[in-house]
Amino acid sequence: MSWIDDKDLAAIRSQADIVDVVSHYIQVEKKGNNHVAVCPFHDDHDPSLSISQDKQIYKCFVCGAGGDVLGFVSRIENITFRESVQKVADLVGYQLRTRYVPQEKKESEHQKQFDLMQTYIDFLKYELDASQDLALNYLNQRKINANIRDIFSIGYAPSSSRSMQFLKAKGYTDQDLMDTGLMNEKGDAVFYDRIMIPIHDENGNPIAFTARTMRKDKNVPKYINSGRTVIYDKGDIVFNYHRAKEAARKEKRVILCEGAMDVIAFEKAGIHEAIANLGTACTSKQLSLIKNLHVPVYICYDGDQAGQNAAYHFAQKAVQAHIDIQVVVANGTKDPDDIYNESSAEGLQKFVSKTQSYVDFLILDIYQARTT
Ligand code: ZN
Repeated sequence: MSWIDDKDLAAIRSQADIVDVVSHYIQVEKKGNNHVAVCPFHDDHDPSLSISQDKQIYKCFVCGAGGDVLGFVSRIENITFRESVQKVADLVGYQLRTRYVPQEKKESEHQKQFDLMQTYIDFLKYELDASQDLALNYLNQRKINANIRDIFSIGYAPSSSRSMQFLKAKGYTDQDLMDTGLMNEKGDAVFYDRIMIPIHDENGNPIAFTARTMRKDKNVPKYINSGRTVIYDKGDIVFNYHRAKEAARKEKRVILCEGAMDVIAFEKAGIHEAIANLGTACTSKQLSLIKNLHVPVYICYDGDQAGQNAAYHFAQKAVQAHIDIQVVVANGTKDPDDIYNESSAEGLQKFVSKTQSYVDFLILDIYQARTT
């Protein structure tokens, strides 16, 4: 038997209206009998993509991209045809008889490392619950409740020996632990006595951590991030991307922040479309992931000079890559978490909707540079 019944395929094609599905990803306008959109497959400025509801096909008159609804989804999501069938079935609520589980994921050459990371994440979550006082109190004080902890798989790294003992008991070798950046060359755990926030790749595989201290000691770095490993290169990832992409398409915006705590603050306020580049200078890989969302980027960096400089550099690169941007107007030096704490969800929602265009941001920036 083939992997999908012809009847299923025909049913999905007939139930999934191409205009609805394409609108899920990009902005579509009605024009005469057809619908048009700015083509997401080339560097388009005028709407070159035409969508025919009668024929249930799309075609770009500039780059030549074209096909049916399944082809569109497969191309824009960068997934196989087979995955796109599952995706479209999910979108229209069609129950496929056999659910398709992508083979590639199972056979990833890094599956062993992903499994190790997941095992460790589960352990860290357990340790957090068992920690009783310190770590849980700290998170509760920061209003990171059980629901938020669950969404981000937040945990607590205990002593080095406790982590190492656990992982070795699970059968992992020193090499495995070094490959994933969990152990240093002295044989100690890289992370201990820290709040652990896992970092995932764009497919949701756990690949690294950003770890925050709970201590107020100035000599202790606030954050430690995983170093480069066989599965992690900080320039390749955008924090929370795999969770935020659906929400970004729905809300028609994505909020780019500096740190994981900013993203978490937005989640507390019920805003699911925030991502962070974790303080890296924006790389072309990050830009292409962000561009792939096909929504305007709301740059929400810190109000201090370093944050505003970083915002300026990102804005410049984004504009060159023809990504629509808005710059969230900084509120002094308050970060999203401060704003949430002071004025709750509503305050943060208001804050992020107050934006400037790139040009206005530039003018203000030049003005401030001249007057300071
Ligand atoms: Zn095109």
